Amino acid sequence: MDKTIPPIPNADSSQWNSQKSSELYKVNRWGEGYFSVSDGGTLCVLPERDENGPRICIAEVVKEMKQKGITLPAVIRFQDILRSQVKNLNKTFRKAIEKQKYSGQYFGVYPIKVNQIREVVEEIVDAGAPYDYGLEAGSKSELLAILALNKNKHSLNLLNGYKDRECIRLALLGQMIGKKVIIIVEKLSELDLIVDVSREMGVTPMIGLRSKLHAKSGGKWSESSGEKAKFGLSSSEMVQAVSILKTHNLMSSLKLFHFHIGSQIPEIQILRNAIREGIRVYAKLVKMGVDLQYFDIGGGAGLNYDGDFSGESHSVNYNLEEYCNQVVEVVKNVCDMEEIDHPHLVSESGRVITGHHSCVITDVFGAIKPKESRLDTSKKLGEHPSVNQIRSLLDDINLENYHDIYNRASSMKEDALSAFNHGIIDLVERAVIEELFQQVTNKVIETSKEDPHAPQDVLDLEYNLLTQYLCNFSVFQSIPDAWAISQVLPVVPIQRLNEEPTELCQIADLTCDSDGKIKNYIGDEEQRNFVKLHKLNTQNYHLGVFLTGAYQDVMGDMHNLFGRLNEVHVFCDDDDPSDFYIEEYIKGNDAAKVLSILQYNPEYMAFEIKQAIDKQVRRGKIKPRKGVELIDFYESCLNGYTYLK
Ligand SMILES: *Cc1c(COP(=O)(O)O)cnc(C)c1O
Repeated sequence: MDKTIPPIPNADSSQWNSQKSSELYKVNRWGEGYFSVSDGGTLCVLPERDENGPRICIAEVVKEMKQKGITLPAVIRFQDILRSQVKNLNKTFRKAIEKQKYSGQYFGVYPIKVNQIREVVEEIVDAGAPYDYGLEAGSKSELLAILALNKNKHSLNLLNGYKDRECIRLALLGQMIGKKVIIIVEKLSELDLIVDVSREMGVTPMIGLRSKLHAKSGGKWSESSGEKAKFGLSSSEMVQAVSILKTHNLMSSLKLFHFHIGSQIPEIQILRNAIREGIRVYAKLVKMGVDLQYFDIGGGAGLNYDGDFSGESHSVNYNLEEYCNQVVEVVKNVCDMEEIDHPHLVSESGRVITGHHSCVITDVFGAIKPKESRLDTSKKLGEHPSVNQIRSLLDDINLENYHDIYNRASSMKEDALSAFNHGIIDLVERAVIEELFQQVTNKVIETSKEDPHAPQDVLDLEYNLLTQYLCNFSVFQSIPDAWAISQVLPVVPIQRLNEEPTELCQIADLTCDSDGKIKNYIGDEEQRNFVKLHKLNTQNYHLGVFLTGAYQDVMGDMHNLFGRLNEVHVFCDDDDPSDFYIEEYIKGNDAAKVLSILQYNPEYMAFEIKQAIDKQVRRGKIKPRKGVELIDFYESCLNGYTYLK
């Protein structure tokens, strides 16, 4: 007889797969093709944005780092992504220019404030060389940097920000050594300085004017634009600037017209409005006899941090191609109407260039679970009756009464607290009541899941029971925007993506600061206050925080003296079995370094400790051998990484 064996139902694996993780963490949305989840459940970087091209598994990079003794937390830079984004931006602008038969060219600049790390800027300059892609500085130090790093004589070097004489002298020095440096006037009085210093040095300056447009941006950076903006000239000041230049015979020095309405412009329509206003001003200046050549639309091209495309403040409702097409289209239309030559186009895009290229990898070193407790809650002889009152609720919970029971339990807990404050119940009884309340809440949540009409306040209870995953990093150092402006950044485990994540988690950092948490995560429609992660097991569990390449790296602070992270620069190598190699390792801060930044003297500190230990040795309280060990230990901590080992 033929016995058919029924198929063994697959365990979890049939329920979950890498594809589902990819959707849950919206990897394809924010990743822009640079990130992908492998069938084996690891998060990979596709430096060429090609599923069939090279593929760098981030967990492999971490493994190799560990072999080299480089510990987490660490910043990993994928230099190929930087290169790719530079090419991408330049090619997309060129394509739009060609398609629309625009007669100017694109001369973009990278504003180094977005990420000034030398290797980042060098990579950008190198990748941008075929496109005469330049740099922008917003301060004296940044100007020093770009003058030294940009060797391309055809590309632009723009100087924004408030300036003193020395800044202008530096800019003109650049001009004297054959670089195209354009000094952009942010306030009218700077023009007098430029006139003065250039006469003194005998150099004809190249000047730009920043306009304070009426058009405003949206989102978090809208204050960069509009009439109350910090930088730029009003139309009255524009007209005055032209007459000042005329008086000094410097009309031909005025080369560039600039505006910047703010970073992360959420909607394409906002950009169109700004450009429409800006290019009109440009056209009128040309008609006043100014020899303008460059139309500089500033930065603002945004990223889809939450993978949403909604045009809310964490995402944008356009892609790079639409961005470039719209710029070219609006400028062209107005110029044709005004019958002026098409200017060269300049953008100062920072975020889109560097955002994707780096991530922070941290390890989860513990969890705080509200559901886990070892407290014995069984009935005790002589316990206060209020304890059993709440205990008896536990057995009564059903679909009909769970909401009511929850409310009753809440008020019993309140009563118990006040009884404790009056000395009526003791600490153990209070603890048991709190624990029983937790158990009631858990059961209420479980029960409510079977009720399609569960009230919102009960549904929200689950969020109070989030597990906190404790991570070895500092929000303040590594992702300051998550703290300062509630920026949403993608948080994704780099392994186990073929297993279902079941824990609702919040990420807490190492700092002794209740704000040291990630509070906003990518959600389905809107952001939410938790991320689903895997249950911790005995293996290391690594999390990546992504899109940290723009602004985060350099804005981090020293809260709790954690300091800079270990950092590796990864390059793609198609011939290598794992498709990558680590080109550079930059050591993170050791404790001695961060302490000395704040005026401590680590050598003296070690000396003090040694003195104190020696004293105990002399008194016979510590054995000499132990004393030496303790001194060595203190010194090795001083010279060690500031994060957890
Ligand atoms: C910050 C800034 C930029 C860069 O903006 P992104 O949104 O990062 O592209 C460009 N220009 C100026 C004047 C800026 O202040």
